[in-house]
Amino acid sequence: MDREQFRAAAHSAIDDIVNYFDSVPERRVLPAVDPGYLRPLIPENPPTEPEDWAQIQEDVDTKIKPGLTHWQSPNFMAYYPASVTYPSILGEMYSATFTAPAFNWLCSPACTEMETIVMDWVAKALGLPECFLSTSKNLGGGVIQNSASDAIATMLVAARERRVREMVLAEGLKEGTTEYEERKMDLQPRLVAIASDQTHSSAAKGALIAGTRFRTVSTRLEENMEMTGSRLREVLEQCDKDGLTPYHLTMTFGTTNTCSVDRFAEIKAVLQEKPAWQRIWVHVDAAYAGAALVADEWQYIAKDFAEGVDSFNMNMHKWLLVNFDASVLFVRNRLDLTNALDITPTYLRNPYSDMGTVIDYRNWSISLGRRFRALKIWFVMRSYGLNGMKAHIRKTIGLGNTFADLVRGRSDLFEIVTQPAFALTVFRIKNPQVANGNANSVAIVQKDEVADGITKKVYELINARGEIFITSTVIDGIYVIRVVSANPMAEEKFVR
Ligand code: PLP
Repeated sequence: MDREQFRAAAHSAIDDIVNYFDSVPERRVLPAVDPGYLRPLIPENPPTEPEDWAQIQEDVDTKIKPGLTHWQSPNFMAYYPASVTYPSILGEMYSATFTAPAFNWLCSPACTEMETIVMDWVAKALGLPECFLSTSKNLGGGVIQNSASDAIATMLVAARERRVREMVLAEGLKEGTTEYEERKMDLQPRLVAIASDQTHSSAAKGALIAGTRFRTVSTRLEENMEMTGSRLREVLEQCDKDGLTPYHLTMTFGTTNTCSVDRFAEIKAVLQEKPAWQRIWVHVDAAYAGAALVADEWQYIAKDFAEGVDSFNMNMHKWLLVNFDASVLFVRNRLDLTNALDITPTYLRNPYSDMGTVIDYRNWSISLGRRFRALKIWFVMRSYGLNGMKAHIRKTIGLGNTFADLVRGRSDLFEIVTQPAFALTVFRIKNPQVANGNANSVAIVQKDEVADGITKKVYELINARGEIFITSTVIDGIYVIRVVSANPMAEEKFVR
């Protein structure tokens, strides 16, 4: 493809992309295809001769679009949203154009410097405490990761290294010696990462990657599925009895199942009770709900992170108008990260890195090469402005409230199961044999096999029709439906 062919193809692709967005509301949100639908439509072998763009683009229409689940549809009310907006698509185009696996500052200074600046913008937009800014005295800062799972696994590895190092040094062993190495390896298997039973599975996976144990704190429907201080204390005490060393705790701001918010203040108070517990790395996973912090009325939550929190992650690619991938991670002390992840063979050395005056983001993440993702965040923040971002969050929280009110208004049919939060409503269909309860009340729903069966059936019927896509889950043994309508195309008429 030469430059003129590219120009024509790109114009045509952009037209097609705009038309696609225009047509999304009319499309069935779930594709009507069976597993394996694609293979018979694609030649078995790659083409020997070059093909025209027109032919390739036509195949996008006839072969790809029929197999898409339309995450941007206003009828997509499953999982959590995965936003995309025009400015973020433009960011992707430029990022692809300037492709450079910018692992060191020198590999593309604009790429590194824009990431640092934009991460400070994001921290300020979210009202995060000053300690997470790159300009903070404590050497904090932000980095863009591929996904929340990558961010969390990276934190677990950094936390493990920090804890084991402290323990071995406290025994008087010298770093770099065989004794040091041996002792480190002896201690590692006794480390345990902790999270609630509602924490996203990425915490358990991160513990696996870090080669440590993992224990969960139980949650209850009566406590709105939030991790409480007292239940955490029970787990910590049990670890002490078992001779284990808790080294990492994931607190969640907006759990995947129900968008509940762990009781940060209570939890932090418990961690102060023993010197060993004070050494636990505390991470806040705000993958979805963290986006709400752009709106002033939610920023009081971020004040809890000023003390006693080591790191915080949020996926802009969920609810904050930037397309996948844009997972932002902030740390209080970048040295905790770079101490764990900086491995510098000769071929990666250069005068700027050696002087220590620049950031090399390869030491802040697992991968070496990285994409220029800061551009799309920059484009979105400038195109929407903080006011546009706040308006999006407020509008979609409003849609969630509308949906929850509609559910409450039919207490003969539905029961709300957990407190509706951040545009998500979790409910079930009532057992018709049980007297009318009060659909306004939450956290008092009892286990009921009939209700479970009907709820499952309704859920399956709705998704089988393919016009609206929702998810179900099981909360404290109760089968429930989750509805969240929060992508940029969400509108009240669809929620109704
Ligand atoms: N944390 C929470 C609370 C989530 O809801 C999710 C995904 O929905 C994740 C982490 C994992 O996100 P990612 O796909 O970016 O790894």
